[in-house]
Amino acid sequence: MTVHLSASLFRDAASPWPELLFWGGWLYQRMTPQYNSKGIRPYTTEELKKHLWDKSHTEDKGYVTLCYIWDGLLDHKGYGKLTHNYRDRRVQQLGWELYRGPVPKGVCVLHHCDQPRCWRPDHLFLGSKADNNHDRDIKGRTCRGSDHHLSKLTKDKVLAIRRRSLTEPRRKLAEEFGVTVQTIRFVIIRHVWKHV
Ligand SMILES: [Zn+2]
Repeated sequence: MTVHLSASLFRDAASPWPELLFWGGWLYQRMTPQYNSKGIRPYTTEELKKHLWDKSHTEDKGYVTLCYIWDGLLDHKGYGKLTHNYRDRRVQQLGWELYRGPVPKGVCVLHHCDQPRCWRPDHLFLGSKADNNHDRDIKGRTCRGSDHHLSKLTKDKVLAIRRRSLTEPRRKLAEEFGVTVQTIRFVIIRHVWKHV
């Protein structure tokens, strides 16, 4: 029996069309803007709104009206996060863009209600990064000192460390207070506990 090696190994080698179709399909997927590399289409405006509503619940957080609290993923600062069109977007930005208008470049979307997971459009306002920091400071949202859930030190201990560090070695203090030498150093140079 004669085996036609070339014919069996390179199927349809005589015809360029399957190859072209394959690369054509790949190119189409890559070049057509409404699809990303995984063949997934970004949300339309209506789908985005539906997605926001589906993944949120309303809750009374002490502001005038109910907050729309996002139940999905959060970013490292605790803001609601949604991946859309290759980018991680904060839900309050999407809330503003979908219901109120575009956010200018370099401008932050801030909360009246002080809830980082809220995206209710009338709880939001536009401001600069400085406004945000000011807002945070006057509302006392900054976590500091023994507010931190992992803090081993208290105000009295910090004062004692600073006083005794003038005469005693840091290693001894670290052992006594159950923290690392690095922490003792940070306390002394006021990298942490700077408000004490
Ligand atoms: Zn709110």
